[in-house]
Amino acid sequence: MTPVLETTGLGVRYGRTWALRDCSLAVPRGRVAALVGPNGAGKTTLMHTAVGLLKPSAGQVTVRGEVAFVAQDKPLYDGFTVAEMLTFGRRMNPRWDDEAARGRLAGLGIPLERRVGRLSGGQQAQVALTLALARHPGLLVLDEPLANLDPLARHDVMRAVMAEVAAHELTVLLSSHVVSDLEDTCDWLIVLNGGRAQVSGDIEDLLDGHRVLTGPAELA
Ligand code: ATP
Repeated sequence: MTPVLETTGLGVRYGRTWALRDCSLAVPRGRVAALVGPNGAGKTTLMHTAVGLLKPSAGQVTVRGEVAFVAQDKPLYDGFTVAEMLTFGRRMNPRWDDEAARGRLAGLGIPLERRVGRLSGGQQAQVALTLALARHPGLLVLDEPLANLDPLARHDVMRAVMAEVAAHELTVLLSSHVVSDLEDTCDWLIVLNGGRAQVSGDIEDLLDGHRVLTGPAELA
């Protein structure tokens, strides 16, 4: 299947520091890909480059289709109401689907007149997700969407992402430190370390491979 996101020999640097170097990976269409790796591995840099916020210093990045991005510090303004955030979104995005966004928020019981800063962390995460989905992206990129959420809110956010994947032709790339939050829902895994993709592929194949490596034969 043609990848929606593909990097080849990608290098990105901040001044003299190379955050990504010779990084090659692919996310096939329709997959929910987990991007994991230790602090400083280059996860945010990879996402910023994929969505066009940073330019490659070497190699190539290709995105096929529309991309929507939810940054780690969510694109919300505490002093504005949810309805005002929708208005900004509508003005800034020609493909905006206001009806879908309002329907989604109503389904979640999030009041449009509430100021963003007064919503719970889980509700804020859902609003950020709604603003991204209203653009009908082909690729949804979420930087640490589960950070600072309690387990129930984490579960709700992942369930919402999976519902969108099932309902629309959507490919997702999301990063996390907490791999156990992702292994039930993601079906593609990219392990980033030192700015390179160490491992990339179907999560089941990789876990099978892992079991082969650490299974009874080796322990015997
Ligand atoms: P974390 O999980 O801590 O968010 P990460 O995997 O997202 O880490 P990046 O934030 O992409 O990693 O950082 C990759 C490398 O680039 C690190 O060594 C970091 O210090 C460096 N870096 C990131 N942003 C900048 C910047 N604006 N200026 C200079 N160096 C930076």
